[in-house]
Amino acid sequence: MAADTARVDFVAHRPAVKESTVRYIGSIYRPPSEAQSLIIQATVGCNHNKCTFCGSYRDKRFAIRGIDEIRRDLEEVRYMGPVDRVFLADGDALCIPQRRLLEIVEAVNEYIPSVERIGVYANAGNIQKKSLEDLKALKERKLGIIYLGVETGDSELLEKICKGATYDQLVQAAHKVKEAGILLSVTVLLGIGGVEAGEKHARETARILTDMDPDYVGALSVMVVPGTPLHEEYVQGRFRLPDPFGLINELRIMVNESSFTHCVFRSNHASNYLPIKATLPEDKAQILRAIDRVIESRDERKLRPEFLRAL
Ligand code: SF4
Repeated sequence: MAADTARVDFVAHRPAVKESTVRYIGSIYRPPSEAQSLIIQATVGCNHNKCTFCGSYRDKRFAIRGIDEIRRDLEEVRYMGPVDRVFLADGDALCIPQRRLLEIVEAVNEYIPSVERIGVYANAGNIQKKSLEDLKALKERKLGIIYLGVETGDSELLEKICKGATYDQLVQAAHKVKEAGILLSVTVLLGIGGVEAGEKHARETARILTDMDPDYVGALSVMVVPGTPLHEEYVQGRFRLPDPFGLINELRIMVNESSFTHCVFRSNHASNYLPIKATLPEDKAQILRAIDRVIESRDERKLRPEFLRAL
């Protein structure tokens, strides 16, 4: 999965689920763009669970849920009204062995014939374990979008944050997803280089984004979560968070120095001080002007207030 998360509030988004008995184990996260999707938990936790900044699944022991349990959940929502999007939680449903994953997506199609798109989080290693034919078979069964956490293009930093993938592995994984005809959404993490490595992180991230050429980019701002290795570094003074304008400067570098065929670039996640949404390359000049106005003003009233920031 990516860092691109929002804690799910089922009651707010989908009252019908509240009335059903779909079971969710622990806190559930999903990408902001899946806010209206039905969430079906295919795994519990993240099978990597080592990224130094991530506290999402530290309290969960990783497991793949059995097909019978998933079918029982799908039975619960079968009559809840038309559902067009389903998101398979938790951290990285693509790690599920191919035969079992096919069973799951086939069950989603069987119980929810109105489904148009199924989404999952994935990491580069698990994408690489799937063959191109595997991904195409999933695509035929409506797996339509993969959310891949990249965080940074800086090779040293990828190692430091224990991302579990190199620059080249991330790019290869991205190309495989696109070749299978599946939409690719990647997340990058403003501030993960700290004050010292911020500009290098932003430049290398622009470079990897260009090499990956995803359909969507979501930029989030790092938040130091207690209980994570990054928090320990922060407490010990080995990690210094850039100030809000430092984070926005990283965003500017990423937008300015990346180059896409066609990409929706957003920083509208609740962790960010400055929400933007741009279609690149078309909106590049306009969005850079808007970012520059904020940076030049140094006016904190133009930023999302601290108390409204969240993961
Ligand atoms: S891959 Fe990393 S960021 Fe994603 S859920 Fe697992 S530990 Fe967290």
